[in-house]
Amino acid sequence: MEVRLYKSISYTIVDGNNQSNIRLRVGDVINILEDISDDRETELKTITSYAQIRAIFLHTKDQLQIPFLLLNWFISLGINDSKLGCPRYRFQQLSDQTWRRIYAIKWIDHQPNNHFIHQCRKTGCENGNHDKTNVYYLHNIFYYTAI
Ligand SMILES: [Zn+2]
Repeated sequence: MEVRLYKSISYTIVDGNNQSNIRLRVGDVINILEDISDDRETELKTITSYAQIRAIFLHTKDQLQIPFLLLNWFISLGINDSKLGCPRYRFQQLSDQTWRRIYAIKWIDHQPNNHFIHQCRKTGCENGNHDKTNVYYLHNIFYYTAI
C-alpha cells in the first residue's frame, strides 16, 4: 500500500452533457449533503454539513488511484450569533473521533464556497494567528463570490 499527500487536487465530473471542473485545496471548507433519514420514514431527509480539508491523499490499490480527504468537521451548535445572525459552530478537535475523518472524494461534486470566521476573543488571536484552543466559529452566510 502506498499513500501520497497533495496540497490540491483537480478533477472533472461528467454528468450527461454537463461537465464541472473541481479544484480542492487543503484549507478549503467543503459542504456535504448528508442523509439523516431513518428506515421508518419514506421521505429523504438531508442536512448540510461543513468540514475543512486537512489533507488530500491518493491511495493506490490494484493499480487504481483512489483520492481521499482528511477532514475536520464544523459541528453545529444549533444557535445563531446574536449580533450577526450567523449560525455558530464548534470546530472538531483532533481528539474528537465522533465524526469520521476520512472521506472519499467522489462525494464532492461542486466547487466549495463556504466561509467560516473565527470567533476571536479579546486575547489569544494576534496578527492573523488564531488561537487554536478556541474552537468556536461563525458560518458567514452573507458572503458571496461573484463568478
Ligand atoms: Zn481568532
